[in-house]
Amino acid sequence: MAPAGAMFVQWPPTLHTPMTRISCPTVQTLDQILPDEPLLMMGAGPVPIPAPVAYANSLVINHLGPVMGRVLNQVKDMARYVFQTNTPYILGVAGPGSATMEMAMANLLEPGDRMLAVCNGYFSSRMADMARRVGAVVTEHVVEGTQCADPQTVLQQVRALQPKVITLVQGETSNTVWNRYLPEIARGASELGCLVVVDAVCTLSTMPLNMDDWGIDAVLTGGQKGLSSIPGVSLVAFSERAFAAIRQRRAPQTHWCLDAQLAYGFWSEGQYHYTAPTSGILALHEALRLVCLETLEGRFARHLSCSEALQAGIEGLGLSLFVDKTARLNSVVGIRLPDGVDSATLRLCMSAEHKVEISGSFGTPIVRIGQMGEQSRAHHLFRTLHALGSAMRRQGAAIDLPGGMSELERSLSGQP
Ligand SMILES: *Cc1c(COP(=O)(O)O)cnc(C)c1O
Repeated sequence: MAPAGAMFVQWPPTLHTPMTRISCPTVQTLDQILPDEPLLMMGAGPVPIPAPVAYANSLVINHLGPVMGRVLNQVKDMARYVFQTNTPYILGVAGPGSATMEMAMANLLEPGDRMLAVCNGYFSSRMADMARRVGAVVTEHVVEGTQCADPQTVLQQVRALQPKVITLVQGETSNTVWNRYLPEIARGASELGCLVVVDAVCTLSTMPLNMDDWGIDAVLTGGQKGLSSIPGVSLVAFSERAFAAIRQRRAPQTHWCLDAQLAYGFWSEGQYHYTAPTSGILALHEALRLVCLETLEGRFARHLSCSEALQAGIEGLGLSLFVDKTARLNSVVGIRLPDGVDSATLRLCMSAEHKVEISGSFGTPIVRIGQMGEQSRAHHLFRTLHALGSAMRRQGAAIDLPGGMSELERSLSGQP
């Protein structure tokens, strides 16, 4: 008998509407989805990660406390070396490289602030989009074609417009253009009182970038490109001047996760912001430690010689590079597709038969091969160049495969 006061509960309950049941799906295992042999990731990112990075990424530790504190301190020290800055304002972000862009835009700009965006392509234009979303008044300085931004014209526009912030990209991954006059533009704009924001997502640790010396106020970067870490955990550095501007904001900060002052609380004062991506931070620690072991000079030299050898090999195949030498990015190489070669078919053949993945493009008739971090290794170059040449031949292109391979070898072995 039911105890006094207890109500009789009918089970299953009678509902007025039939109960919706979501049935359990049948899925494949990852082994069934992933290729039998992992693809060699030679596209525009993510890039292969070294074993210590992969191992660190498999660990989970407490996101607060003394062990995490020591890890964070080392990450900041190493990041200061890699960014070439003394700033205390090094912050990690749980998010893609674009989240560091968004952090910079959302913290440095208030509604109505003027911004000049130097737009070379897809990624540098993304900063203009983000700035408009936070209410800034954005002027775009569009650099046509595959030119790099010209310092005189840009600085003239800075004088005329007097923006609070100027944004530019060091290497425009989308069309493989290198803004070679970044130091001149950054220094000039900085002297004119502008906060200089630089997207170094694909270039950091692949070529020189001197944050303090060049007068840069925010450097944005991601994990999965030059640093050869995992995607989804990124680093940003703000100068003292930039952080002072952030502290003096009058408009409320509408982003909570991307609030730079809350992030600083975690990164420098042991305060809880959100549960930090501990595995990804450990991975980043290892990626930075490997940069320090190699030294920046060594790393730049490796990237330069590998990228130049790859370019020589590509030309040796009889193909042409998308950007003139003067504005050509070494971190991601753009290759013109010969007549009759279809980008998607080419890439499908390369990944199915040669287990090498490269990237297509955003509207331009090119394919792109990355030279970031672990991609810049001689043995990867031989495999990639061979895969590219063979797959193009498959589509009937006239390719000098032995010529390309021998150019690669010649250049790598330092012969003239
Ligand atoms: C890849 C890339 C980005 C975007 O990084 P995500 O991690 O995809 O957000 C931004 N800028 C440049 C130059 C890039 O190469």
